[in-house]
Amino acid sequence: MKYEFPILLVEDNPVSRKLIGKTLLKAGHDVTTAANGRQALELFNEKFFPVVLTDWMMPEMDGLDLCRAVRARTVERYVYIIILTARDSKDDIVTGLQAGADDYLSKPINHSELIARLNTGIRILELEKSLKAANEEIRVLSITDPLTGCFNRGYMTDRLPEEIERSRRYDHPLVVVLCDIDHFKQLNDNYGHQTGDRVLTAFAQQIREMIRHNVDWVVRYGGEEFLVVLPETDFEGGCRTAERLRRAVASMKLKEGKHGIKLTASFGVTGFDPETPDEKVSSEAMIALADKCLYRAKEEGRNRVCAERL
Ligand code: GH3
Ligand code: MG
Ligand code: MG
Ligand code: MG
Repeated sequence: MKYEFPILLVEDNPVSRKLIGKTLLKAGHDVTTAANGRQALELFNEKFFPVVLTDWMMPEMDGLDLCRAVRARTVERYVYIIILTARDSKDDIVTGLQAGADDYLSKPINHSELIARLNTGIRILELEKSLKAANEEIRVLSITDPLTGCFNRGYMTDRLPEEIERSRRYDHPLVVVLCDIDHFKQLNDNYGHQTGDRVLTAFAQQIREMIRHNVDWVVRYGGEEFLVVLPETDFEGGCRTAERLRRAVASMKLKEGKHGIKLTASFGVTGFDPETPDEKVSSEAMIALADKCLYRAKEEGRNRVCAERL
């Protein structure tokens, strides 16, 4: 069995280093060795080690300074540190723990005790890992619309101003497209709410498939209304994209039993470029203008794109 938490073993005495290293390898651990704290830190700069097993007394940089240096780094993951020491007076142990060690082992090292204590550390690291995964899941859920998988409005409120600020800082253009499905109420009335939900999901999927992965993003702005954000896109490009989306939606092949469902949507587009004066640019102003354009597209007969520069 191979553990997923690589160990950095730091020990200046070559014989001890070899012996301990062998024990760890035999227990299935992935081990890298260093002869002192300075070497260990150099290795740490190249690769992350979740477990550090370090001797105390070493030339150049001792185990205490290594503990302090590891703790001073801002790493996103926890490093479990065990200090190996011949000094086992209470004061020494307290000093070691205060420098940031999680545990200590007295020399001469008992190899079964070493493995047992290492396993304690690994249980903590495993706990950290599962908590992180759970947190990430919650984070994703908190910004996602459950029906369509698009971002939700709360996410938009945070992200759109940031996206706009970034575009302004680097003198890049940005476009937003507000889209709303045409006569969706009628579709619900004709085929039922569940079919409505399915169509809504398919619509969102279609939009997401047609935009740039990891650059553009889609928010479920309201019931059957979506906001597409197109960074690094000028006004003309944004209008072309909206037109492409409109055509793709109008040619979607949707079915309910034997009936084909005709789906269209209307689009309101606005955007700024580096020449747009600062006082005009805000997420509120962009959404308001995109909404005004969308309203015009509905007024003029739906299934169309209306656009106006910010
Ligand atoms: P228009 O062309 O003017 O946009 O007409 P419309 O019928 O699409 O617009 P309206 O705003 O009158 O109705 C929107 C409908 O969308 C009403 C609402 O029941 C439906 N809707 C909103 N959210 C959902 C949803 O999550 N699932 C389903 N199935 N329907 C939804
Ligand atoms: Mg030593
Ligand atoms: Mg609608
Ligand atoms: Mg609507």
